[in-house]
Amino acid sequence: MCTGANLPGRFDAQGAVTAYVALGANLGDAVTALRQAVMAMNCVPLTDVHQTSSLYQTAPLATDSGGEAAAPGPDYINAVVALETGLTAPALFDHLQRIEQLAGRERSYRNAPRTLDLDLLLYGNARIESARLVVPHPRMLQRAFVLVPLVEIAPDLVSAEQLGAVAHQVIERLGPFPVSPFPGRMPG
Ligand code: ADP
Ligand code: MG
Repeated sequence: MCTGANLPGRFDAQGAVTAYVALGANLGDAVTALRQAVMAMNCVPLTDVHQTSSLYQTAPLATDSGGEAAAPGPDYINAVVALETGLTAPALFDHLQRIEQLAGRERSYRNAPRTLDLDLLLYGNARIESARLVVPHPRMLQRAFVLVPLVEIAPDLVSAEQLGAVAHQVIERLGPFPVSPFPGRMPG
């Protein structure tokens, strides 16, 4: 539950930016990790979780080298959520990284199994290239586990060609996102 000023539903979304965040976890109780991450995002100041995709399951995949290679570890549970936020992109990203840390994320090595991965895919139409934050996320178009949940909640943001380019990657829809702790506020 949120505390103090961060109670959900208190944010007047006028002038807010829609941001999309990809969630992934493949250690421990991954479904619970994603559910708790959504609750935590709903507690971020000036930010509401607006939409949640279904949950998906995918094999670990390394796409950072430009190609595709199997990565170590158990299958991932993935989802994408839409946020309405009054925060700047760097401020929102600070919160996403804090939520990753709270979930016990250790950055041991690239593509290592993780308790929680939160990637900021899109922040409105913004283009950002700083040392720590690149938006749109530079590898999102290479990943079915991003594009398939994203197109589910934002069909206009992903083209048929982009989906076709990752169609060979195996992704299984598990079912709807686990029920919201705030009934009526998060369709999905
Ligand atoms: P990946 O999510 O690609 O598997 P990591 O989660 O380990 O990789 O992130 C690696 C680095 O990517 C982080 O140090 C972070 O600062 C940087 N990064 C740059 N842009 C973004 C973004 N849009 N979303 C998430 N991380 C980003
Ligand atoms: Mg990440």
